[in-house]
Amino acid sequence: MATTSERPNIVFIMSDDHAAHAISAYGSRINETPHLDRIADGGIRMDNAFCTNSICAPSRASILTGTHNHVNGVTTLNTHLDNSLWTFPQELQAAGYQTALYGKWHLGHGEGHDPVGFDRWRVLPGQGHYHNPVFVDSEKGIVERGGYVTDLITNDCLRSLDRRDPDRPFALFCHHKAAHRTWEPDPAHFTMYDDVDIPFPETFRDDLEGRAEVVQAVRMKMLDLDPIIDLKATVPDGLTLDEEIDWRYQRYIKDYLRVVASMDDNIGRMLDYLDEHDLTDNTIVVYTSDQGFFLGDHGWFDKRLMYEESLRMPLLIQYPDGITAGSVSDDIVTNVDFGPTLLDLCGVDVPDDVQGRSFAPLLRGETVDDWPGSMYYRYWMHNDWAHACPAHYGVRTHTHKLICYYNDPLDQPGASGPANPIEWELFDLVKDPLEVDNLYGRPGTEAITAELTAELERLQLEVGDTPYPAAS
Ligand code: CA
Repeated sequence: MATTSERPNIVFIMSDDHAAHAISAYGSRINETPHLDRIADGGIRMDNAFCTNSICAPSRASILTGTHNHVNGVTTLNTHLDNSLWTFPQELQAAGYQTALYGKWHLGHGEGHDPVGFDRWRVLPGQGHYHNPVFVDSEKGIVERGGYVTDLITNDCLRSLDRRDPDRPFALFCHHKAAHRTWEPDPAHFTMYDDVDIPFPETFRDDLEGRAEVVQAVRMKMLDLDPIIDLKATVPDGLTLDEEIDWRYQRYIKDYLRVVASMDDNIGRMLDYLDEHDLTDNTIVVYTSDQGFFLGDHGWFDKRLMYEESLRMPLLIQYPDGITAGSVSDDIVTNVDFGPTLLDLCGVDVPDDVQGRSFAPLLRGETVDDWPGSMYYRYWMHNDWAHACPAHYGVRTHTHKLICYYNDPLDQPGASGPANPIEWELFDLVKDPLEVDNLYGRPGTEAITAELTAELERLQLEVGDTPYPAAS
């Protein structure tokens, strides 16, 4: 195979706000994703991949830098990446990889914030647009283009593969805008699902009783969707409140699934290209999303909270030369581990000050005795302009989750007051996987609460984060 080198290639596909439970390989009840399933079938499905901060820019910064947000400084949507920081694409570039980035960046623009570590990049300014998007190109500046964003990003990626130097490995970063709000489908999928009702999630009518007061108050309910902007319609006359909530869900989730469907089609194009050019065996194909999303779960849309649907990232990795097809792992990994893992798979050293740890041995099916059984999470953007989501941090293990809503903006950009009293939530994920029964403070939970509190403090010490003074 003259077109491949010994070092593997990388195709890193990252979407935006695509929850694992909208992927059929993860058992979706609401859609089919045949091409994403090809990646799962041909490689490994990671069932416990979590983000350390469930929001766009911070998760992307953690992926690129291999560090938590208090270290890389991208704590909220209003903080931009300092592009003098180490990132794993730069390390690949320095190791001789051809590197390119197409699609969403969302970490700031201009000197100090533009993408670095890529031989070529063409990114959407800010969130970008679904239809006829403008791109910013590293060589051409502003590029105006007609078409649909998911198709255009894929076209750019395939063209860059056409132009690659076959004698050097490549690392291609394909960052889709989909499935971010405001979920605008392409014409081929406009009428998909028109004739069906999408099933409602089990917790759609969750009344949030017993959960933290700040959680009950978040503005991520179906009634918080803007009918015109988000749902592209006016609310029909004569509906009861419950009927209106149902109607809103159907409008929301159908558009969400339509933009996912076009992404799945385009990922199929990418996989076909690799097959047709004899690249599949020696290419690591990663599919992930910057975080999860509520798909009507608990009555919500959006992310931010440490609840499962938002915390979990889809993570599918295909690498025929290195990973057994059809593997599944339930080991806990986080977004800070992604960079070190890919470097490890490519035989590139990881600097000591990177916080993430390579999970390449887990991908190979090896048992790692000291692999962590817990992860640390922190959401900083207290009471942001739109979602009123509280600042919180917490720990998740294989069986439990403890969340401290410390409820203080702490002068973080984009966060706002007022600070609220501290509240806690405790979930038993084995008995209560849907997280509807907050056990915090209940008799009989003293031992597990003490254990999780100690683990939370240990993790904060380990990653160098500062506990909220009044919470410790
Ligand atoms: Ca996102």
